[in-house]
Amino acid sequence: MRITSFAIEHVSLPDEDPNWKFAGQAYPTNEACVLVLTAENGMTGLGYAAAFPHLAATPMGIEGALARICAGLVGQDAMSIEKALVHVEASLVGNNPAKAAIDCALHDLKAKILNIPLYELLGGKVADRIPICRMLGLKAPEEMAERAQRLVDQGFQHLKLKVGGNLYDDLARLAAVRKQVGPRVHLVADPNQSYHAKDAIAFAERSAEFTVDIIEQPVRAHDLFGLKQVTEATSVAIEADESAHSAQSTFYLAATQSINAVSLKVPKMGGLRAVQTAARICEVAHLGCRMGANVGSQLLAAHALHLALTLPNLTYASELAEFQKLQNDPFEGLVVKDGYLYPPEGPGVGVRRIRT
Ligand SMILES: [Mg+2]
Repeated sequence: MRITSFAIEHVSLPDEDPNWKFAGQAYPTNEACVLVLTAENGMTGLGYAAAFPHLAATPMGIEGALARICAGLVGQDAMSIEKALVHVEASLVGNNPAKAAIDCALHDLKAKILNIPLYELLGGKVADRIPICRMLGLKAPEEMAERAQRLVDQGFQHLKLKVGGNLYDDLARLAAVRKQVGPRVHLVADPNQSYHAKDAIAFAERSAEFTVDIIEQPVRAHDLFGLKQVTEATSVAIEADESAHSAQSTFYLAATQSINAVSLKVPKMGGLRAVQTAARICEVAHLGCRMGANVGSQLLAAHALHLALTLPNLTYASELAEFQKLQNDPFEGLVVKDGYLYPPEGPGVGVRRIRT
């Protein structure tokens, strides 16, 4: 079964909150490309390339990378994913979000040809649903507390606060949210690289008062000494996000015992295969891991969800429902209920297209 053609569609998903931001980037709109790979029997595999500047990706950069790499996939066997991925990796340095879209489209296409759900192709389910952690954008403490309560009212028991690298402001954010939601809701803090190591240690020590389960990526992505220093100095679990940008960097962080956990993301790491590898590294290294925010269409969340359902070593709630805050999503089919995400039925990734 050969791949006969490909198509690239630009999509633009405005955030319901035009002021949504974290320490580093504001994202009023999520730009992306949908990749469609078509096989000779007419079946199509879909992938989603998120154009995140913080992952070195722009819409034009994504489109150019997809066109260049996919031209070499036309005529290739749709069933030989590993062979196709050798071509993908050899075609271009970097641009993991584009590579992730191709990897996802190849997996979706093969699962559809075999008429099985994507999770079956990825090893089979170990869970039927995934607990969800929802994110709170960087805002004044009172507004974050109010938004936190709205999410708790919707059934979410895990919340992640974006914080900004100022110790006192960030502690005020944690205090306000904890006071609002009470002692039982689980909290994560994500400074998105905005602390230096010493200040991050002080933040970790002081945040213990508000019972924070995880502090995500406190220091710069490349400050690996600082990351290890923070991990060793605090009893709060330290999770790598931007520092764990690939399976290779996950291996390095594990081998140097620099972290306690890893945020797994399909666009960041370059696809389902790369995330699967990173998750296995976490498994054998006794590190925690979970699916981080794969922000974008339900198409992207669905790919990440299918893989999450097959991973036996997810240790914390995943961030796979951020699509709920985006508008004009061309895809539907995922179900969020009482703080859990459920997969759609049917072959492949399972989501349905509702608009172009
Ligand atoms: Mg993060």
